[in-house]
Amino acid sequence: MKLVIDIGGTKTEFGVFDEKSNLLRTHTISTPVHNRSGLIDEIKSESSRLAQSNEIFTQVNISIAGTSNPESAQITSSNVPAIAGLGFKDDLENALSTPCQIANDASCYALAEAHKGIGRNHAVVLGIILGSGIGGGIVINGSLLPGLTGIAGELGHSNNLAARMKALEIVPDECDCGAGTCLDVYGAGIGLNRLHMALTNNDLPAKEILSLWDTKDDTVLKTVEIFMDLVSDTLAQIVNFIDPHIVPITGGLSNSQKLIESLDRVVRAKTLAKLETPLIVPSTLKGNGCLLGAAMLPNIAI
Ligand SMILES: [Zn+2]
Repeated sequence: MKLVIDIGGTKTEFGVFDEKSNLLRTHTISTPVHNRSGLIDEIKSESSRLAQSNEIFTQVNISIAGTSNPESAQITSSNVPAIAGLGFKDDLENALSTPCQIANDASCYALAEAHKGIGRNHAVVLGIILGSGIGGGIVINGSLLPGLTGIAGELGHSNNLAARMKALEIVPDECDCGAGTCLDVYGAGIGLNRLHMALTNNDLPAKEILSLWDTKDDTVLKTVEIFMDLVSDTLAQIVNFIDPHIVPITGGLSNSQKLIESLDRVVRAKTLAKLETPLIVPSTLKGNGCLLGAAMLPNIAI
């Protein structure tokens, strides 16, 4: 039996998988984002609770909202400071007495789409998470791109958007990663809220902004137009660079069909290829992509 954990900035989801990689049951808790020992205690107690009768977890695979260096196990995570830095993997393995494998959540998601989702039969899959933040993972011929430091697909950082924000008369916020004004600051759920707040002084959650946009409410048009411009510029560059066959998207913002269809149309218009059929498509994995992909880690990649 395998225990799979998806540690996100808001919630942590647990999944129990059998030997044939069937997902048997799940459970979700709130993530204690600033408290490593608290998070490890929660994982330990959920691990005991989820193991039924004679079940023993021989492996624990973890998807994180962050990156994990395959050599040093150093983790970077803006959304979950509790796991950042060195030692989380060791701490967890000591607490559970079980080997753990850790990978970026968007990489796990891309792996799941490439094998079980809409990316099946596509050679190059760029999986994108558009949730609280923005992240990506790259799967080539069924395997994750095995980079040097575990950051492959991190399209939301080092984008240097400060000048663009100033041109919009917005005082640019800086990303926790230290690289200045990254797309992650303005290009996903928290970013859409931040952008709208900066433009209108109205504190609306991203979901509500997109609902208003659906009804053609003109109080959010400028916000969504700028958001679309920022995200599509970066996505178009990434599409030019790796030339993916398909770009599935998951995360909270992917629930807006209008957003995904618009993003797809705008990105295709900006890329060199000028594709005539959809490239950016919603996930078909019903929100389980990170768990499903993390469950595949030991057998397939990294
Ligand atoms: Zn950043």
